[in-house]
Amino acid sequence: MKADPAVQRRLLELAEVDAELSRVDHRRRTMPELAEIAEAEKTAQAKRDAKVANETALGDLDREVKRQEKEIDAVRAREDRDRGLLAGGTVNAKQMTDLEHELTTLERRQATLEDELLELMERREAVELDGQHAGVELAKAEEALADAAGRRDHALADLETVQVRRDADRAKLVPTFPEPLLALYERVRKNKGIGAALLRARRCGACRIEVDRSMISRIAGTAADEVVTCEECDAIMVRTPESGL
Ligand SMILES: [Zn+2]
Repeated sequence: MKADPAVQRRLLELAEVDAELSRVDHRRRTMPELAEIAEAEKTAQAKRDAKVANETALGDLDREVKRQEKEIDAVRAREDRDRGLLAGGTVNAKQMTDLEHELTTLERRQATLEDELLELMERREAVELDGQHAGVELAKAEEALADAAGRRDHALADLETVQVRRDADRAKLVPTFPEPLLALYERVRKNKGIGAALLRARRCGACRIEVDRSMISRIAGTAADEVVTCEECDAIMVRTPESGL
């Protein structure tokens, strides 16, 4: 294949643009923020779960407290009724003894229930405190997540700027190449990653392998407009005075 040496040299510009586009693509997929976000997301989810578990525990305790209070109210009502009967003076001696006995039992029961309620309230207070702590932890985790996402978006925006600029460069360059040369370049780039590189100091700029002496002398004897490719990596080797021929 033949191509004007100036056109061949312009392939280096295209290769540079493509190299930068590849770097943009690579950075986009491997930016450290992605791993950081995945980790932060995991942490935030654990904190969310902890908060939900705490709210559930608090709800359960609230229901227990209400049930306990209701039971205490019922015992108190029964005590009031008994006291009323005793004060009313309409009961006989036997009934009076029974009522007094019942009142003693009820008062003991009330004291037990009130102790239990106090214990419940203390537990509830501790769980509520845990909940506040879990809330702070969750807020911290969400903040770390948002921070990492913000940095990712910022980095992505920077990459997008480079991409847009380099896409425009590429669109301008591409039509300046003859179709067969561009097709060769694109095919090699697709298969090997680099379509064209400078032959510099006898070294292929794409694979960095030194071209052997017999090949160098063959290239040196080749017309300048002949397209030469690397035997190792197939890249188009662009010749300049730096090529060491
Ligand atoms: Zn090579």
